[in-house]
Amino acid sequence: MDKTMLPIFMDNHSTTPVDPRVLQEMLPYFTERFGNAASKNHSFGREAEKAVNHARGQVAHLINCDPSEIIFTSGGTESDNIALKGIAGKPGHIITAMTEHKAVLDTAKRLEKTGSEVTYLPVDSDGLVNPADVLAAITSKTILISIMMANNEIGTLQPISEIGKIAKEKGVFFHTDAAQAVGKIPVDVQAMGMDLLALSAHKIYGPKGVGALYVRRKNPKVTLTPLFDGGGHERGCRSGTLNVPGIVGFGKACEICEREIPYESARLETMRERLKAMLFQGLSAIILNGHPTKRLPNNLNISFAHVEGESLMMDIPEIALSSGSACTAGSLEPSYVLRALGISNEMAYGAIRIGLGRFNTDQEVEYAGERIIKSVNKLRALSPLNETTASLYPSPSRGGQVGMGLTYNM
Ligand SMILES: *Cc1c(COP(=O)(O)O)cnc(C)c1O
Repeated sequence: MDKTMLPIFMDNHSTTPVDPRVLQEMLPYFTERFGNAASKNHSFGREAEKAVNHARGQVAHLINCDPSEIIFTSGGTESDNIALKGIAGKPGHIITAMTEHKAVLDTAKRLEKTGSEVTYLPVDSDGLVNPADVLAAITSKTILISIMMANNEIGTLQPISEIGKIAKEKGVFFHTDAAQAVGKIPVDVQAMGMDLLALSAHKIYGPKGVGALYVRRKNPKVTLTPLFDGGGHERGCRSGTLNVPGIVGFGKACEICEREIPYESARLETMRERLKAMLFQGLSAIILNGHPTKRLPNNLNISFAHVEGESLMMDIPEIALSSGSACTAGSLEPSYVLRALGISNEMAYGAIRIGLGRFNTDQEVEYAGERIIKSVNKLRALSPLNETTASLYPSPSRGGQVGMGLTYNM
């Protein structure tokens, strides 16, 4: 591979670059069109307001809602916070899942401290929530169900429409964190039955620090307690001067996604399948984490026995990947998402997340496949347990468990 193409970015679940077409739309709103969208008494303000409303329409169209149901925020984290804390203005019972993003889990934990009760549903070995578990968890006190559409680590797509139907039948509000799903798979809040939905611009080739919350206005109308007090912007849900250039970019990013989803999803899936095939053909003793088919087209999450994800990443510094571990208070903890699938600590430490994106090429995929195989073989050759590897894992398989009680020096 041409050295000038390095480094390669394959961590598109963590963020994405701003699409040049998005940047073009944004630029005038930093300089000549700098008005405050709330200053309706002069042309500068009205021009900004017009641009924000145009973007509101673009975001709304992508998820099939009315533009008046879109609240602009600082991102996915804030949207999740407004949804959960806004509904739990008075304490109640919330149902969520163990594999949610921290923006939901930590918010739920906070609400527990102020009198709310939270049920954290388990998932199966592919990361799926069982809709029957959701139904069984509903009590007379339940005010909200919050289940993400697509998981940011393993890409698993939840049975959102079924959960939406249950929520509607039981008269409970339904929130979904769709930060990873929007722009990659079709999202329709009417067909899928959401009352609240969180989006983030920087996951879909828009700028960082912008997002939105969809808030249903009728059948049923959702009323939220705001987190910020101030000028009463965004229907009183989110006071604060609007980030006009960011919102303009977010709108454009949504418009591009809507137009290109069919083509882009197919392209990402083809690249993902190619990479997966290379790794499974080239290596033994690896497992796919997450659902084999109900998953985001751009996500691959693989555990390599006898190799730590962190070591693998360090051995391949020219490709940006993510491991299954997170540094918590100075020590490396295996991912809580992978642990929730029931895989061993060892296999969780051995995980790598690959997030393909709009700007990855076939050539980069070939390079990454070969490079990862080479590195895993090298690291395994260094491992004292290598002798046993071949007999324990005669063929590539998924769903295997490693129960060897390996110890790792973290
Ligand atoms: C990135 C992400 C968020 C947070 O969005 P920010 O805009 O970065 O605050 C929330 N949920 C999921 C699933 C995400 O992937």
